[in-house]
Amino acid sequence: MTLAEYHTLRPVSTPAGRLFTKPGVRGAADPAYDLLARSLEAYGERALDLNPGAGRVTLALLGQGLQVRAVETSRAALRCLEASFGRAVEVVCGLPWEVEPGWADLVALVLPAHRGSRYVELSLLGAARALRPGGRLYLAGSKERGFESYFRLAQAMLGYGLLLKREGPLRAAVLEKEHPPPPLPAPWQSFTARVRGRTLRFAHLPGVFSAGKLDAGSALLLAHLPEEGLGRVLDLGAGYGALSLPLVGQAEALTLLEDDWPSVLSAQENLGEQACVLHSDVDEALTPQARFTTIVSNPPFHVGGTVVLESAAAFIEAAYARLERGGKFYLVANRFLPYEPLLLERFGRVRTLAEEGYKVLLAQRTG
Ligand code: SAH
Repeated sequence: MTLAEYHTLRPVSTPAGRLFTKPGVRGAADPAYDLLARSLEAYGERALDLNPGAGRVTLALLGQGLQVRAVETSRAALRCLEASFGRAVEVVCGLPWEVEPGWADLVALVLPAHRGSRYVELSLLGAARALRPGGRLYLAGSKERGFESYFRLAQAMLGYGLLLKREGPLRAAVLEKEHPPPPLPAPWQSFTARVRGRTLRFAHLPGVFSAGKLDAGSALLLAHLPEEGLGRVLDLGAGYGALSLPLVGQAEALTLLEDDWPSVLSAQENLGEQACVLHSDVDEALTPQARFTTIVSNPPFHVGGTVVLESAAAFIEAAYARLERGGKFYLVANRFLPYEPLLLERFGRVRTLAEEGYKVLLAQRTG
């Protein structure tokens, strides 16, 4: 797959109409989205979709004749939503708990359970805050991923709730806002870790990759990077900046690319003026001529809980395209992930620098 193919939007037909999707975007063929789309009924005038992904539920809300605002965090998903809906939907890049209080008559939320309980709790609080008194929250999720306990939590925040549908492990419910929501807790968290001879503090929002601790794979990659000659460094899929913060003072310049908005905000918090952090689906936010001496990455292999290799394949393509001649691409991955053939095909040669649960691979651009 070429990068151009990766970035091409793909039409999908759903019972409610056509949507665009692309690799790495949640929710186009997800049965929880489908269930919520089929469970909704119009209520009031203004609806907020707090986890739209490719927009299945957004489309259902629009079909009910509601005015719709969709708050999304993924750059790739934002692009799909804009292409699918144009001006018919107000598409917003933002955090699900930073919503306009009392704006919505109806909120729809597919529980973002793969992002961990703190992110789900803050999303539910966001839903409770966004609703006007008497407004309704439509929820969907899987009982294998905590639906029952999140439903109880939502009832404690809002008020009366009714289970609407059960399909296999999936559930859909509706709740009514009967009392004011609890206050929003401070979302930021932080931890310290010893890396490359220094103790560093990492701050992050909930729901980001490897929250609360440095990922063991990322630590292994850092241990195999040289101290000198890094030049201009690109961090592809940067998360909260785990790979970049330790390189401050060692790299000539640091550029971080990240698809997920809470991760972008976390990386900006950690790196401040010392790096350029861009909200980007792979390398789309870079200027065409941007090139780097070193590229580091711990590529994603889950999207909404499902294993996908397309995003990692696009990372490899982008790494090749963005390296100067002689530049080096350091990648770390779980040992079971089949990245070597992709690297070999693109770079012609790949070296394994370490193999300890994870593997650190090095590919150099010679041509
Ligand atoms: N480098 C960080 C994060 C690694 S996890 C660390 O070592 O801790 C992979 C990261 O890639 C996640 O933060 C994920 O949000 C991001 N990501 C996933 N798909 C992406 C895409 N299409 N473009 C850019 N970043 C993406």
